[in-house]
Amino acid sequence: MKSYENTMTYLKTLNMKGVLEKLDELVNDAEIQKHSYITFLNTILNTEIESKRLRRIKRNMTGAHFPIIKKLKDFDFNLIKGIGKSESIILNDCRWIDKKENLLFFGPPGIGKTHLAISFGIIAVEKGYTVCFERITNLMKLLKLSEVQRSAEFRIKRILKSELVIIDEIGYTPIDKKEANLFFNLISELYEKTSIIITSNKSFEEWAEMMGDEIMTTALLDRLLHHGKIYNLDGESYRLKERIKEKEEAIKN
Ligand code: ADP
Ligand code: MG
Repeated sequence: MKSYENTMTYLKTLNMKGVLEKLDELVNDAEIQKHSYITFLNTILNTEIESKRLRRIKRNMTGAHFPIIKKLKDFDFNLIKGIGKSESIILNDCRWIDKKENLLFFGPPGIGKTHLAISFGIIAVEKGYTVCFERITNLMKLLKLSEVQRSAEFRIKRILKSELVIIDEIGYTPIDKKEANLFFNLISELYEKTSIIITSNKSFEEWAEMMGDEIMTTALLDRLLHHGKIYNLDGESYRLKERIKEKEEAIKN
């Protein structure tokens, strides 16, 4: 019993939570299957490595602040123009994140821009990358507050350290001069260091108007587009289509 207690203490000291949780089961299995010492040692180490990896993914998923869970498998590529299933499969391997490339999704509301952005974000988290999701309105709030509020400062620091930053819904709300400046500085800091996904319902031409400064907008777009893939999505609004379907079904019943 003493050795068992010692093992538990050592596992706690080494912070080996994965093995700690399963110790009885692991020892039992090894005894039943008459594992060699080295096989048992490998099983112990592998259990801890896997448990740490899963815990890191869980932490990153929480830290990403996805507003909702959306999966690529639930996205119907037949409904839109501008991106195909084969392209999405290429993006699945996350090599674009290793290469610090950006994905820019443009198109009208309800077409699946946010769905795609979240899906690629979740794939990245599952592959072990750190990701942050923010709607542009909240990002602006955080940037403005980061000098006076600890939680905002903490979030901005996490964004700057992330491997993928998703900025959603650019264009729905106007941006004033100060906000445009803060946004430009953030993108400049992320440039070539972090991958960025942006979604916008406004075309590039409309960005200058939205930001109120043509030169800054050009510089901003320059940075986003340098290693960026543009997807101009088109089709009918999925939200509208769903609503029409619901109405039709209500009439039928
Ligand atoms: P956008 O960001 O372009 O306004 P969303 O991504 O928020 O659009 O999509 C609106 C809703 O419709 C979401 O619930 C989304 O999951 C769904 N949706 C949109 N396009 C598709 C699609 N092609 N396949 C499956 N669901 C879709
Ligand atoms: Mg959206």
